Amino acid sequence: MNQFIPLFYLCMMVEATVKRDIRKLKLDELKEFFVQHGQKPFRAQQVYEWLWKKSVKDFDEMTNLSLEVREMLKAHFTINFIKVDNMQRSADGTIKNAVKLHDGLIVESVLIPTDKRITACVSSQVGCSLACKFCATARLKRMRNLNPDEIYDQVVAIKQQSELYFGRPLTNIVFMGMGEPLLNYNNVMAAIEKITSQQGLNMASKRLTVSTVGLAKMIIKMADDGVKFNLAVSLHSALNHVRSSIMPINDTNSLEELGESLKYWYKKTKRKVTYEYVVWKGINDSEEHAQALLKFCKIIPCKVNLIEYNPIDDGEFQQASQEAIDMYMHLLESNGITTRVRKSRGKDIDAACGQLANKS
Ligand code: SAH
Repeated sequence: MNQFIPLFYLCMMVEATVKRDIRKLKLDELKEFFVQHGQKPFRAQQVYEWLWKKSVKDFDEMTNLSLEVREMLKAHFTINFIKVDNMQRSADGTIKNAVKLHDGLIVESVLIPTDKRITACVSSQVGCSLACKFCATARLKRMRNLNPDEIYDQVVAIKQQSELYFGRPLTNIVFMGMGEPLLNYNNVMAAIEKITSQQGLNMASKRLTVSTVGLAKMIIKMADDGVKFNLAVSLHSALNHVRSSIMPINDTNSLEELGESLKYWYKKTKRKVTYEYVVWKGINDSEEHAQALLKFCKIIPCKVNLIEYNPIDDGEFQQASQEAIDMYMHLLESNGITTRVRKSRGKDIDAACGQLANKS
């Protein structure tokens, strides 16, 4: 028993010296902290604005606080802002950031410029647990979920790059980087809350798209939670045996369950869904597959993005022929389904869909 006493004190000492990440505190908790330390609660509002609206990385940048208050904050807290460790620019203008987190782990995020838009593509997890056979991120073990501030900071960094390199504002955000956003639901929602709030980046929800492998239970939850952003589902096949062979999640989350959850989504939100779909040679490039997709598209109002395949491997997956793409296009469009072919961006720097794998 005696042995426990010094250990206990040691733990107490360690706890006293470990600084907390200030951005984990809600506004009310920050107010409480200030009151407990003999300060006026409105200081919390000021600090909150520096942290979220102005994204400062250092307490000394909080110039409307006295030196004494800044020192007190420094003694108790850290600001764990992400660090853009390596930035690569593609010939087509796309920027890929390797983002270092406070514990040294790395995720990637991408800025995609077009004539009309600048889109930030952000990661939600370090690595991914879903094992989709065609995706480079699937080869990285899932290490952990990103915190809300780590997701938020990726957007802030890209917003700054957008203004610096293109002289234009960031217009859209897609959760299509590393990881499965709906397996990190609470943190992704908390980040979106900040991105869309007036105390944060004040971006319109309709400018945001969350892309998922199609977890039925979570789609129902999102519908119940009344979310206002867009939903994209990475479909890739509307035949169970084919989808299961390339996306193992389909074994426990079948197309029927997915379809039911999407009906519920549409009933509750009245929002269309976008299906992401790659056509591969010999896997899903025949008429039978296109017909199955068309049938799936009739479940709820939707759009289809036929995305170009970005090779990541030794050739197990290959982009289908132009004729196969045209066949899909014609069938879907002639049945009233809006369909777009999405060309890849940033391929030369491995920044395109499914290529994010921390190569740099
Ligand atoms: N887990 C989420 C978010 C990742 S988004 C999801 O599955 O939607 C990444 C998108 O790129 C998904 O639509 C994914 O299916 C697609 N993708 C993955 N690997 C790809 C590749 N090699 N070429 C083209 N698209 C790919």
